[in-house]
Amino acid sequence: MICDMIVLGTGSVAMTIDYTAEIAKENRCYNFRAMLEHHNLILNPLSIETLWLNITRRCNQSCTHCHVNASPDRTEQMNRSVIDHCLEILAGYDSFKNLDITGGAPELNPDFDYLVVRARKLNKHVTVRHNLTVTIDGNPQTGESKKYLPEFFAENQVEVLASLPHYEQGHTDHVRGPGVFEKSIHSIRLLNAQGYGKVQDGLILNLVSNHDGPLIPGDRASLEARFKQELMSKYGLTFNRLFAVTNMPINRFRLQLKQSGTYDEYLSQLMGAFNESAAIDVVCRSLISVSYDGRIYDCDFNQMLGMQITNQEPMTVFNFDLEALMRRKINFTSHCFGCTAGGGSS
Ligand code: SF4
Repeated sequence: MICDMIVLGTGSVAMTIDYTAEIAKENRCYNFRAMLEHHNLILNPLSIETLWLNITRRCNQSCTHCHVNASPDRTEQMNRSVIDHCLEILAGYDSFKNLDITGGAPELNPDFDYLVVRARKLNKHVTVRHNLTVTIDGNPQTGESKKYLPEFFAENQVEVLASLPHYEQGHTDHVRGPGVFEKSIHSIRLLNAQGYGKVQDGLILNLVSNHDGPLIPGDRASLEARFKQELMSKYGLTFNRLFAVTNMPINRFRLQLKQSGTYDEYLSQLMGAFNESAAIDVVCRSLISVSYDGRIYDCDFNQMLGMQITNQEPMTVFNFDLEALMRRKINFTSHCFGCTAGGGSS
């Protein structure tokens, strides 16, 4: 059964939606595997270098495009026992070079600092998918301040991958909520003050932009040049690279597309923009994704659809088997067109 809880925003009603049958139908219309066959592409795992942990579904924001359906009301988070198992896996296999931490806002998990410090002691490269505003807002449930984060990131040489949909306030606030742009600018300023985003071999601050609707991002390099020019000239801010991502047609964004009657149009657009080189580079070939409860998936998107990897039995960090993971067939379905459209986005 493929289902998830849809939480439309703070204070709104949560619903559990089972869309197994719908997805099966969509897979026939928007057939990713057939597209791969048409291009003679066999996308097997290459090597598993990154452990991508989703350690909480709680967030201080409830963005319109969020594929996690994260919000301040979500309570799921990875506990210390699962975190310790993940650290044992990182320590036990040389192939794992990187730890990629995401959420929700991963910094809201009370064991976030513990995880980062221990992974760095294991000499792993640590990347945090950071929403910028958590530094300013703190923990919405407990009121705990998160103002120490820029310094903590710098001390531990964490790579920061931060969401900023656009360099214009209106666009960013439309996607992420009123006031988000201003807080994000303040937060980038604090990161720059720690030395982030200044040089290519120093502390890395990369930004992630996305459209506020069903559109495929344009040319990445020219968008990056525009972001750099606007953020420097208006606010004196710097960063390293810009990634432009496609909104994934799942969960909250999928519901919006369905409600506005644009779902099929968007899927056709993504399918029509299939890019062979982007397909060869999809991230699921070099990572595995772990949910808060220790289940293992091909990526964070498949995780949100409940498409757990199975090897005779469902795979978790408790029955971890790297060889079986390397032999697996990746679970590609129609939403994978979101990773292979245009310049690619996964
Ligand atoms: S959505 Fe599909 S193509 Fe993209 S990373 Fe996940 S499994 Fe791979």
